[in-house]
Amino acid sequence: MFVVVASGNLLWSRLIGHNQNRTTNNTNNPNKVNKNQKNKKNRTSHAVQEYDLILQHDLFTAGNVQWFYYRVGNTRKHSIVKFNLINMKKSGSLFGLDKDGGGMQPCVYSQMDAKTKGIGWHRACTDVRYYHNSQNYQTNNNNYQKKQSTLSFVYQFQHDDDCVFFAMCHPYTYTDMQEDIASIRSDPERSKHVVFQSLCNSIGENRIDKLTITSRSAAPLSMNGKHLTALERMRKERDKKPKRAIVLSSRVHPGETNASWMMRGVLDFLTGESIEAQGLREHFVFKIVPMLNPDGVINGNYRCNLSGKDLNRKWSTPSKWEQPSIHGMRSMFDKMIRDGRNIALFCDMHGHSRKKNVFTYGCLRKKGHPSRDQRPLKFPYILSNVSHPFSFMDSRFKVQRSKSGTGRVVGWRGHDISLR
Ligand SMILES: [Zn+2]
Repeated sequence: MFVVVASGNLLWSRLIGHNQNRTTNNTNNPNKVNKNQKNKKNRTSHAVQEYDLILQHDLFTAGNVQWFYYRVGNTRKHSIVKFNLINMKKSGSLFGLDKDGGGMQPCVYSQMDAKTKGIGWHRACTDVRYYHNSQNYQTNNNNYQKKQSTLSFVYQFQHDDDCVFFAMCHPYTYTDMQEDIASIRSDPERSKHVVFQSLCNSIGENRIDKLTITSRSAAPLSMNGKHLTALERMRKERDKKPKRAIVLSSRVHPGETNASWMMRGVLDFLTGESIEAQGLREHFVFKIVPMLNPDGVINGNYRCNLSGKDLNRKWSTPSKWEQPSIHGMRSMFDKMIRDGRNIALFCDMHGHSRKKNVFTYGCLRKKGHPSRDQRPLKFPYILSNVSHPFSFMDSRFKVQRSKSGTGRVVGWRGHDISLR
């Protein structure tokens, strides 16, 4: 007997069938399935249970369902379960791209495997499919009806009495972020490059952290062989041109956990002692907000905050009370510009649900425009030459009307900030 436990953002589950005979080769890896299908000796027959699962909407919205995270308890060794997540809202997905049930797999975490084999979150499951179902749903802002989709996949449990978690992507929680920041703060070598501040609090009263990373070199003791007095050094320090700024943020969309994993790598790199990190700290000041939407992360949302709004459509006129993190970012940009600081780059990290590779969405005026500036192409082009996973060909630079409230477009139009 299985129990699908309502946790994470699972609203309810219903057993819809069981005792169908299914032939299996005891693996959750579709690649191995294909190889082992020839070896009939390894194949055994098991009963299959099938569950329909309904996921919670983003709080105070009528949709935005794509992220999933739930657990299954009271498992039986070798038992097979087919899960149907029947109220997904996107029409397409990286799940089930291949006709044979391959493509991206869900992430799985078995408490037993973690304890006995040290196996953490990993991609698993077979027969992964993503398709339109017969149900429609009403979109948030009008009466437009859209088709819902189903994500289905099959998992064979490996232990009795295990507790197994399933998620869309490797989870990264608000607590994970706090622990990562605490780890930097407690490291005397890394923390000396960082100023830890709060950008503001979220609606749910969760702290939104801001980290400033740069080198702290003071004015030199001497110049051209001449010793500088304390007053001269102070004046030099005061008159120094402010370093150019690079602003990085992530996790405005709570379900895009891959953005947090990228940000984790960035923080690890920028606080490290590599020559490249030292050079970057010497030339730039990094303003970093690792989690713009902690309430959404904590509550299992996919896209919105607690005001039921997509924060990445609210950059034009953010409310201090309903979108405090975006309001805080706008204030931070305004202050840097007032202080005469040039903002060289603003990069808000996301995870795309349908596109492969790593790529950039930038801003560029239309071809033929008299003030078309090609500089936003430079950074992604250089990146594609030094980093294999980054694809310049998958990058886009079109400014669509529907994206006018995004951070990149508002920053580009209002503050002349872009990738360059
Ligand atoms: Zn996003």
